[in-house]
Amino acid sequence: MNNRIKKTVALLLTMVLVIGLFQMDTMEIYADNEIVICIDPGHGGENLGATYNGFQEKNLTLQIANVMTEYLSQFEGVKVIRTRDSDTDLSLEQRAQIAKDNNAFFLISLHLNASETHHLFGGEVWTSAFGDLYAWAHSFAEVELQELAALGIYPKHVKTRMSNQAVDEYYGILRHAKNRDIPAVIIEHCYMDEIRDEQFYTSTEAIIALGQADATAVAKFFGLKSTSLGIDYSGYQRNVYEAPATPVYQDKTAPEVRQIALNAYDPASRVANIHISAKDSESGILFFRYSVDGGINWSPLYPWTAEEGDTEIPVIASSNGDVVFKIYNGFDGGGQTNHIRLW
Ligand SMILES: [Zn+2]
Repeated sequence: MNNRIKKTVALLLTMVLVIGLFQMDTMEIYADNEIVICIDPGHGGENLGATYNGFQEKNLTLQIANVMTEYLSQFEGVKVIRTRDSDTDLSLEQRAQIAKDNNAFFLISLHLNASETHHLFGGEVWTSAFGDLYAWAHSFAEVELQELAALGIYPKHVKTRMSNQAVDEYYGILRHAKNRDIPAVIIEHCYMDEIRDEQFYTSTEAIIALGQADATAVAKFFGLKSTSLGIDYSGYQRNVYEAPATPVYQDKTAPEVRQIALNAYDPASRVANIHISAKDSESGILFFRYSVDGGINWSPLYPWTAEEGDTEIPVIASSNGDVVFKIYNGFDGGGQTNHIRLW
């Protein structure tokens, strides 16, 4: 190489190094510029999403997105773009491509949930299973679940889900976002098909609260300020995660500890005080339910409020005196306990 080429190569190498250093802290780059957030109201057009109580998910997601857009746009340093503003359907890939075309830093897909058994309730957030995308999205998802919890929604879990072949994301929107190197989340605000969650989506006030909660989570996560709202989240501390070297898999096993014991039984009232030991080291304990007829009929799901390990639950015995519990982890995976026979 002649000197001139050597100098050019040296200069190029320096540039690559400098660019590399800047990329080490993405927040630095975005601190002085606008952060582009892409809001994706799930479903649309012929694609209704879940439908319960006369409500269609596609309309609710659009309404939440409208509130979120309006509220988030009042913060400085953020530009909100959308995958759709009207009742139209888009493919999941189109949605991710819109985010890409607009240089979005985050793609936030808004949904409401429903379950096959109609027993689940609460909010949950799905993230990418891969590297930096996981680390960013997981941190954001925690802030989001805190905001939903502040509204009274049971915070379920921050989750990943790999495809059945275990090579890629299960959820299309997360896969297409990953292929475009955009952090993304799916927010499942609450369940449309469980009575305890009805209050969180069936009124205008509830929809406004959800949209503002989503916007607040973004504002907190990025440490934004709003002069017009008189809010400053610049000192907000979120959890920071290392990028995992391998994909983060979903929890496919039931809680490893599922044990009940009889604490006390009062024959007059038929109240049995049951001691439960439960543990799931992968995703924690979320719900329990019980049967007082040996597993034929089951109670609704109840939230697991004990920090971890043990708790006590009173149940009213039925004629056959056979008590059994089911314990569920952060991925709704459940398993039965031992039985207790009261007589
Ligand atoms: Zn949906």
